[in-house]
Amino acid sequence: MKTFLLLAPVCGLAFCPPAFAEDYSGANSISDEAAALAGMEPASGDEHHDDAHSEAAADDYGAPLKAEAHADPLEDIVVDAPTHVEEHVEIAVEHKEEARHGPAHWGYVGVEGADQWGGLDEAYHACAAGVKQSPINIHEFMRDDAMGDITLSYQTVPLSVVNNGHTIQVNYPAGSTASVGDRTFELLQYHFHTPSEHYLAGAPYAMEVHFVHKNDAGKLGVFGVMMKLGAENAMIQNIWKNAPAEKGEHVVADLLLNAADLFPADKSDYTYHGSLTTPPCSEGVHWHVLENPIEISQKQLIAFQTMFPVNARPVQPMGDRVVKGK
Ligand SMILES: [Zn+2]
Repeated sequence: MKTFLLLAPVCGLAFCPPAFAEDYSGANSISDEAAALAGMEPASGDEHHDDAHSEAAADDYGAPLKAEAHADPLEDIVVDAPTHVEEHVEIAVEHKEEARHGPAHWGYVGVEGADQWGGLDEAYHACAAGVKQSPINIHEFMRDDAMGDITLSYQTVPLSVVNNGHTIQVNYPAGSTASVGDRTFELLQYHFHTPSEHYLAGAPYAMEVHFVHKNDAGKLGVFGVMMKLGAENAMIQNIWKNAPAEKGEHVVADLLLNAADLFPADKSDYTYHGSLTTPPCSEGVHWHVLENPIEISQKQLIAFQTMFPVNARPVQPMGDRVVKGK
C-alpha cells in the first residue's frame, strides 16, 4: 500500500510516543493485513465488526482492493468518478451517493486518494489549491501564554453512531459546548482517523479523534486528540461495538456516553488555522491539537482498521502559518 510511504514515521524526538515506533510499525502490517483479509471471516470479536469489516472494506475501500485484483485499475475506476456537482458537502457527512447526482466519490488510496481530491470535483478545488490546509506536522510553535484554555461543557447523551463510509462518527445533539478562552463552540460530532492525521514532531500516532464544533458565526473549531496504543479504552469499546456494519446510523437509546471521556486530563493544545481534512477541504477551521494522547488497545486499533484500513489525509504544507502553544 503505497500510502504508507508517505506516512513512514521518523521517531526519536521528544513527542514521539514511547510505544510508538513499535506500535506504528505494527500498525502498518496490521493495516496491510486488514486490507488483505477484507472479506474473510475474523476469528473472534463482536458481531457488528465481523460484518462491518467485509462490507465496509469492500465498499469504501473498493477502489484499492479492486486495484490489486485487476490488471488495469485506472480503467476500472476513472469511469466511476463523477465530476458533476449539485450539492454542497456537509462536513464529514457523506451522502448516500452512488454519486451520480452528488459530489464525487473520494477515498484515501489510488485514483480517489488524497493527492487526487482536488481534481475529482470542482467543489473540491481547495483540496489542491488551498494554502491553509490540514492536517500538518506540528514540529515547532510560537509560545503564547495568553492563549485560552480548553474547557468542555459536554452533556452525557445517548449514543448515535454513524458509519458514513469514510469513518465511524458519533453525532451529538444540540446543547454541548466547548470554549477556548472567550470563544464558545457547540459540539456537532466526533469521528476517527487511522493513523493520526496530524503529526507531532514528525511522527503520527496510531489514531486521532476529531471533535467538530461550530460557533454562532458558523465558524468551525475542531479539537484533535491523539490515540496511542496502551490500555483498552472503555468508551471506544462502547462505540466500536455499536458501529453499524454498513453505511448507516445506529442509535442506542440506553447507552449514555460523554465525549469528554475521550480527552486526556491535561488539555494543553497547539492551535493553528487550517481546513477540513476531507473534501471539500474548506478552510477557515480553528484547529486545536492536544499535546497529550489518550490510550486504546491494539485490539481496538485492529477493529477499526478492519473497517477502515487507512483514513488519514497526508500532512499538508505549512506555508506562512504559525502554530501557537504555551
Ligand atoms: Zn477528521
